[in-house]
Amino acid sequence: MRRSYLYRVVYFPIEGFGEFDSGADGPDAIVYDLDGTLVRLIVDWEAVATEVDRVLRNRGVDPPRGLWAMLEFAETHGHREAVEEVIGEHEREGARRSERLALADVLAAGNGRKGREESDGRERLPTGVCSLNCEGACRVALETHGLAGRVDHVVGRDSVATYKPDPEPLLTTVEALGATPERTLFVGDSERDERTATRAGTRFAYVSDLRSGDE
Ligand SMILES: [Mg+2]
Repeated sequence: MRRSYLYRVVYFPIEGFGEFDSGADGPDAIVYDLDGTLVRLIVDWEAVATEVDRVLRNRGVDPPRGLWAMLEFAETHGHREAVEEVIGEHEREGARRSERLALADVLAAGNGRKGREESDGRERLPTGVCSLNCEGACRVALETHGLAGRVDHVVGRDSVATYKPDPEPLLTTVEALGATPERTLFVGDSERDERTATRAGTRFAYVSDLRSGDE
């Protein structure tokens, strides 16, 4: 059910994604998650966690296990900057070396709606990226794959005060695109993305659902 609904809402002009007229009910904007959705960052997250753990211990604290738990811990104990530095450096390097995923080609071709104003008959939808990665890494990834000009607004982990699954980053992206949550489609690859969309009140599609064009 969910899948057939998704196909009606936006036009993906790339083979393997199908072509779908959105109709009057289509979204006014589209927001993508970055890692696992448009590209895959080449990051050894276990190595990052080990390094963050060491940085925190060197600062005389006993951190929890798990990278995101450590980040939250660092934030409430005044170590966010030191931890961000470590994670951000790995992410930016991982973005430079990132693998391009199929949906990046959709974005490069210009996702949009059929029957509108562009020369190829499509209206390009205002497009954003809302990621758990730092904003700098998002921009490096988009530039690496020639997508920077296709994205109107980027919100990363460090762009606003909170990060996904808090709805604020997504709502900030939506607002920057001049859209409303109800008429925005958020495309992601994780349960965290889906939860973020639910909390922000946007539509949501898993990238894996968009891919399986001929069910
Ligand atoms: Mg992701």
